[in-house]
Amino acid sequence: MDFDQHFKQALETLKREGNYRVFAEVERQCGNFPKVKRYIGEEVQEVTVWCSNDYLGMGHHADVVGTMVDAVQSCGTGAGGTRNISGNNHMHRLLEEELADLHGKEQALLFTSGYVSNWAALSTLGAKIPGAVILSDEGNHASMIEGIRHSRADKVLWKHNDWRDLDRKLRAVGDRPKIVAFESVYSMDGDICPMREIVEVAEAHGAMTYLDEVHAVGMYGPRGGGISEERGLADRITLIEGTLGKAYGVVGGYITGSTALCDFIRSFASGFIFTTALPPACAAAATASIRHLKASTQERLVQRDRVAKLRAKLDAQGIPHMANDSHIIPVMIGDPVKCRMISDILMQDWGIYVQPINYPTVPKGTERLRITPGPLHSDADIDHLVAALASLWRQCALAHAVA
Ligand code: PLP
Repeated sequence: MDFDQHFKQALETLKREGNYRVFAEVERQCGNFPKVKRYIGEEVQEVTVWCSNDYLGMGHHADVVGTMVDAVQSCGTGAGGTRNISGNNHMHRLLEEELADLHGKEQALLFTSGYVSNWAALSTLGAKIPGAVILSDEGNHASMIEGIRHSRADKVLWKHNDWRDLDRKLRAVGDRPKIVAFESVYSMDGDICPMREIVEVAEAHGAMTYLDEVHAVGMYGPRGGGISEERGLADRITLIEGTLGKAYGVVGGYITGSTALCDFIRSFASGFIFTTALPPACAAAATASIRHLKASTQERLVQRDRVAKLRAKLDAQGIPHMANDSHIIPVMIGDPVKCRMISDILMQDWGIYVQPINYPTVPKGTERLRITPGPLHSDADIDHLVAALASLWRQCALAHAVA
């Protein structure tokens, strides 16, 4: 086989369909978020980021940065190996205690990313619970889908956020160990699941609940414990999974649950056992970030104000955006080529960075700009973004009228 030829053909197809991904080259500047430097060959442009998942700017917070720097100075850079080989770093233990407390669980277990935590935990649960069936919301993230696939357990998809469908499907499964896997905030539509109903249905069928709170931790609940904390449901959910890489501004993933559950995953999950642990400095920085957001609501409140303001201004200009109750504002484009083009123009002409979201991240025909306003976006930033989008919308309407 001519392997390179095969690769090139596959890439050509992606390009023809408008789904080829081009990444901007940017450099975050500590303390200057949401501005970043963009590199175009020798040139450097300052742009405003509107698509970061560092939702609250905690990656630039003085306490978080200071803690990380101090930890590197005192502990060095890497963890030195897997925890099986190099032991539990003290900072891993402190972070796990902080996370268990965040969700009101007995224990937590760290992974190198949210993706790995979902992949490792779901694949282990599905593989190691005899006869298990995993009932997965059809909108679940790739990391959950891959974990379930790897487990080789039977999988049943239920309609997105449809607890009645879940109820029917749980009944049909009958008397087997059942795991209901779902998310709180779905990252592309920004919709929030009907958590109470899902939990009640799962309880009625004796199913275990597996909740991904990746887009909600730090963001919702009085201490940032996510939607499960906000709605007073955390104690009724068997396993809560999250990330340290989005609202907490660092990197890493975790699960929380009972001591037995976490020890079970720790003991059997290859995605935990066979990979180098998080650098201690990352663990220390994440701990500082979680502690800060447990005590401070300021970031969440300002962030909500920014979301409301941007939505109102988009409405005033007639720019369509998907309604939801979260911090994610999807501006729908519905065409991969246009989506890419609008994103390029925003970057080149307006110094605004919003990554186009195309297939396979979202279904074909639902391509969008996914905007995530944060507490560090100023009124002037909002006005600039709305002016840019309004101008593009007028040009598109004009082009449409002429055609
Ligand atoms: N779960 C969901 C719902 C996600 O959207 C993501 C990433 O975007 C992940 C898990 C993976 O988290 P991480 O970025 O920490 O790997």
